Amino acid sequence: MSDISKMPLSIEFFPPKTAEGVEKLRLVRQQLYALKPEFCSVTFGAGGSTQEGTFNTVHDILAEGVSAASHLSCIGATRTTVAAQLATLKTMGVKRLVTLRGDLPSGYGAGGEFQYASDLVAFIRKESGDDFHIEVAAYPEVHPQARSPASDLQAFAAKVKAGANSAITQYFYNADAYFRFVEEVDALGLNVSVVPGIMPITSSTQLMRFSDACGAEIPRWIRLRLQSFGDDTASIKAFGLDVVTDLCEQLRAGGAPGLHFYSMNHSAATLEICKRLQC
Ligand code: FAD
Repeated sequence: MSDISKMPLSIEFFPPKTAEGVEKLRLVRQQLYALKPEFCSVTFGAGGSTQEGTFNTVHDILAEGVSAASHLSCIGATRTTVAAQLATLKTMGVKRLVTLRGDLPSGYGAGGEFQYASDLVAFIRKESGDDFHIEVAAYPEVHPQARSPASDLQAFAAKVKAGANSAITQYFYNADAYFRFVEEVDALGLNVSVVPGIMPITSSTQLMRFSDACGAEIPRWIRLRLQSFGDDTASIKAFGLDVVTDLCEQLRAGGAPGLHFYSMNHSAATLEICKRLQC
């Protein structure tokens, strides 16, 4: 059994859209730094839509003395735009990337010179050698556009073979799906750690909306309980803390190599879960 107090933690933020949001996130980060995260990552809007906000937030995290990872997505991107982004990130002192395909909003033509995240990983390795530690996304419950679970696993393997160092999963509430995925990755001889992505539950409607979009399954018993709480946010939060802490405990007991928290730019739930886990 691994000791959670020694489990590396990482925390994800999205770039705020307003000056007020920037200040609020600064405070949230200060609270979360008490957890001593191995790194904090910042999402990147598909098509480069948040590039400035992403890079500014990464810059702020680095200036606060914390290791920062920039997400980078390739849908709609060209080799020239990605090369320029890599050069900027390198100059900023970024050493870790979370490398993704991304999703364009419906109505946008994909265009661009990269089809899959594996193409982006290969390009980064060609362009930048070993300058960056490359993280990729993993889907224990299968990516919603995958032709089959087997082809999704092959797509994951392609990202590792292209040069990814480690992976972070989509969030899930069924630990068995994660352990099965890790077994399959190991069976393929892929030498990568797969860190579970943890989504605290703080709002029923938000969780349902995200999960429908990204293909994460909300088990029936969780869905029904959440529905039964209606607008009672205190009960939703209390239930969410119990469920997600239990999940993290199962992951710890099963040997997960770390935990990556989707903070949603809030600190309370992540802090409370880690307190209960004695991180
Ligand atoms: P890929 O690995 O390219 O896979 C996409 C689909 O294509 C899958 O269905 C896969 O099975 C299939 N596929 C891949 N290769 C092949 C092939 N050779 N042949 C046939 N099929 C193939 N999105 C953002 O826009 N910005 C972010 O910052 C962001 N951060 C994320 C962080 C994490 C940890 C995770 C898990 C997701 C994040 N996402 C983000 C969402 C992500 O962009 C979407 O899930 C997207 O739909 C897939 O991205 P990917 O990198 O996993 O794509």
